[in-house]
This record gives sequence, structure tokens and C-alpha cells, in this order.
Amino acid sequence: MADTIIYHIDVNSAFLSWSAKKRLEEQPEEPDIRTITSVIGGDKQKRHGIVLAKSTLAKRFGIVTGEPLIRASEKCPNLQVFSPDFAYYVKQSNAFITLLKEVAPTVEQYSIDEAFCDMTGTKSLYGNPVEFAHTLRERIYRELGFSVNIGVSVNKLLAKMASEFQKPNRTHTLFPEEIPQKMWPLPVGELFFVGRSTEKKLHTLGIHTIGELAACNPAFLTSHFRKHGETIWNYANGRDLDFAASHDVANKGYSNETTLHADVTDAETAKMILLSLAETVGARIRADKAYVSVISVNLVTCDFERYSHQKSLYSATNITEEIYQTACALFDQMWKHEPIRLIGVATSKATFEQSYQYDLFQSENYEKLSKLNSALDSIRDKYGSNAVTRACFLDEKNKISKGMSAAKFEHKKTDKNNFTSIDVSQ
Ligand SMILES: [Mg+2]
Repeated sequence: MADTIIYHIDVNSAFLSWSAKKRLEEQPEEPDIRTITSVIGGDKQKRHGIVLAKSTLAKRFGIVTGEPLIRASEKCPNLQVFSPDFAYYVKQSNAFITLLKEVAPTVEQYSIDEAFCDMTGTKSLYGNPVEFAHTLRERIYRELGFSVNIGVSVNKLLAKMASEFQKPNRTHTLFPEEIPQKMWPLPVGELFFVGRSTEKKLHTLGIHTIGELAACNPAFLTSHFRKHGETIWNYANGRDLDFAASHDVANKGYSNETTLHADVTDAETAKMILLSLAETVGARIRADKAYVSVISVNLVTCDFERYSHQKSLYSATNITEEIYQTACALFDQMWKHEPIRLIGVATSKATFEQSYQYDLFQSENYEKLSKLNSALDSIRDKYGSNAVTRACFLDEKNKISKGMSAAKFEHKKTDKNNFTSIDVSQ
């Protein structure tokens, strides 16, 4: 199994950033509300409502999220209050998650402005996961117009704690070996899952930092907080038990899908997207040293009709080209030429053994492809993800995500779907 890598991606002052973006679109001459003392909240005139989000400058006045607007205005007399626009926020949230799904094999939306991405196995595609987090953060800012914090670690808890470090527009790591230095000195109230009342009670027990909590006898904590005591003790030690359990399910499927920025109406573009999806899925499978024997393609049409076709292979595979070729064949069978909103590639029946019957590929060809796949993985591992690029993506200016951002290439015709150095003859 490859080392688990989790990103927690959190939009900085989401409601304020998104409102700022909308205002800049509508009134470009007006100041960016992120750069003034401003908050998003209910109606100031009516003197009710609470602060939903605050600018960095407003934060310097001691304004906190969740406090009544009236108190915030007392702290900062020139405070500008803007009403929320939830319909627009949902659109921005969807664009954010869609972009993540183009890049990450598994995306779990956690709230309107937060998501976990399981990046395990993507090192061969994207290179060093910490450097790629920087690239991804910059891409989100460039394409979507708002900044995020990315926390990088080995489980969801630590990734989430990391994304809370200094803001905005930062990438932070919190690997297990960094816990004593980066997490233990923090006030215990900053630990995920420690609410106000638990914090107070911990203080009365003489526990003020996460490190002091980590050093407690768990039985002592259980006696005061029951099961919750054990949970926060594990968290203080960087252990995220729930997630570890769900991640280790052996016989899982591997899948990825992407919602398109504009409907796709031609097979060539659809197949480019299938290739990028097959690449992320294939890399995940190979990283787990697994093989899959069922491949399916999911489509959602512009009328929100969803359908899928699947095929069982005679022998399990982990080869990108075989996943891709099978996906293309399924696509040709199922597509009725209606505009497509979403395309997905899913695999199932994962095993950790390979059988040596060949279906789609001749044995000689199969071995060649298998060697080539591991060669590509290790070249990308060694020299970075730009070292090998599919021929069909070479003319694209956006090299950052290479094949991964194929979903953005809609309506762009390419001459060939050939691979850089592979002749996929059938
Ligand atoms: Mg946020």
C-alpha cells in the first residue's frame, strides 16, 4: 500500500471571499471587500444577525465569526456589512468541488467550503504531494478567484488541524513526526472536536494544551468524559481512528468523475476526459498494488439523466490503457449523442492478485504496457510529474495538471488520442 496522503482544503473566509468575487464581477471599480474592514452578516439596519465571515482587517479589531453584528460594529465603527448571497455561494462551492474532483481520486465534501482529498497514490502523477498542494492552491486562486488553505498529512484529523494554521492562502503540513512541535503547544480548545464546554472542563482539570491532553492517562479522561474522552485523547495524539478503519477496506473500488464546466457534445473530447479519469484511477490502483476486474462508465446528460454501463474483464488489470480502452468501448456503446454534464470512470472487484489470462490485450503487448506504466510512474516519481505527458495534452498550455484537467478542454478538438510513446494496437 502506498503511504496515505490526505489534503484538507478550506476556503479562506469563504462567504466574504465569494461575495468579494461577485462584487468584483459586477462592480469592478469598487474596492475588493477582502481588503477593507468588512463582514458578511444579516441586516445591520435591523440591528440583528450575526457575523458569518470577516475580513483580515476586521479580524484585527477582534471581530469573531458568530458574534452579533451590533457588537462587531461597536468594536469597529467603520465596519462595512454585506448581506450573504447563498445561491451564489452554492455555485462557488460546486465549482470548488468540481475542480478538486478533476485532480483528486477521492473527494469528500465536508462543508460548503471544505473538502478532504485522498491523494494517496498520486505521487507518480503529480510529484511531491506538498509541492503539488502549492500548485493546486495557486490553480484554485487563478481559476476560481478565491484563496484556500491546504493542510497535508496522513489522516483527515491532522490534515484538518494543519489547514487551520496561519491563514490565508497557505499550505501547511502536519505529519506525525511534527505533532510535538506544531500541535502539542496549541491551546486544547483548538483541537478538533473539543467544544467550549469540554474545553472549560479540561481547564478545571488542569489541562490547557493539546500536548497535556495527549499525555493524560486515557482512563482518567474516560472517567470524566466517557467515550468522548477517549476520542479526544486519540485526536490529541494524532490518531484518527474512524478514518483509518474506512480506508483499509481491501476490496474497494476505485473511481473518479468530473462535472464539466460546459456540456460536452463530441466523442473526442469525452474520450480525452475518460483518459484523464483512467489515469488517476489507474495510478491509485497501482499504488495499492491492486487489480480490478470490472470497469464502468457513468454519464449524466444535460437533462440530468444518469446512466452507466459496465464490463467485466476476463482478467484483472491495473493498466491505464486497458481501463481507458474499456471505458471508450463502453462510451461508444452507451452514448446517444446527447450533451454530457458529467463523466465518471469506476472500477470494482479489486483484488491483490493478478491472473494471467489476457482479454483486451495480447500477452506480449500487455506485458509491455504493464512495464511502461510502472516506468511512467517511476519517472514521474523521480523527475516530477511534468517529465512524461500524454501526446494528446502536449498542445495544451495548462501543463500544471497535464492530463488531469482534461475536463477543461471541452470543445477543443485534437487530432489524435495517441499516447506519447505507446502504440495501443488492438
Ligand atoms: Mg473556510
